[in-house]
Amino acid sequence: MIRSSLFIFLLLLLSFGNSFAEGFEKGGAGTFTVVIDAGHGGKDGGARGARYTEKHIALKVALKLRDALRKKGIRVVMTRSTDVFIPLYERIALANRAKAQLFISIHCNSLPYRSANRASTKGVETYVSGFGRLDEQDIAIRENASILLEKDYKKNYGGYDPRDPESIILLSLMKDRYRSKSIQLASLMQRQYRGSGRVDKGVHEKSLAVLARASMPAVLTEIGYLSSPTEERYLASESGQSEIVKNIVDAIGAFR
Ligand SMILES: [Zn+2]
Repeated sequence: MIRSSLFIFLLLLLSFGNSFAEGFEKGGAGTFTVVIDAGHGGKDGGARGARYTEKHIALKVALKLRDALRKKGIRVVMTRSTDVFIPLYERIALANRAKAQLFISIHCNSLPYRSANRASTKGVETYVSGFGRLDEQDIAIRENASILLEKDYKKNYGGYDPRDPESIILLSLMKDRYRSKSIQLASLMQRQYRGSGRVDKGVHEKSLAVLARASMPAVLTEIGYLSSPTEERYLASESGQSEIVKNIVDAIGAFR
């Protein structure tokens, strides 16, 4: 690769960094795509309440969210729409392939039986991928960037090699952007939950396999505690599920 062409490429990137990044996030598809991931499934039941398991609640909320977003003209891809087991990495790989602009994973919290606060602990919290997994994300962004670059930019910037150490600038630009966008969406979701009178347990960064390889803003939201009888009733109820879905839809609306 010729140094000067890389220099021009990076110069252009810095000048038009924002629109360049937009181009990446749109993934060429043009339609806003959200991947909804209902946590667990099949042999993996997840957390257990007195009557309900996490995999069922997560799926019910995910299906309602799918319908609500489609009504708004948003393209939705589900990682699962039935009670099946899907490995974590396959879930995010699907989102990467779909060139999604958002990945939302839905889960329920629970405290262990021996925990003194098991019945009384309530609230919602949302996770974004933590630092421990950023190397894996590097690979995913690089892979996606490579494909997109080939399609859209190869003609103009032939010879650009996403594996070139100097293109780290590009990768870290994308990574920072996904991370800050993930935190932005997570915060908007928490604000909506809070507005509905839920206990706000905040936005956290955590090393999570399902989010680790995302090449788009990605969040995992814990919509309540199945170990709390009050919240289990809420999570299993039609009105509770509709309220959670409205909270997420409104947060996505504000995010866009
Ligand atoms: Zn879970």
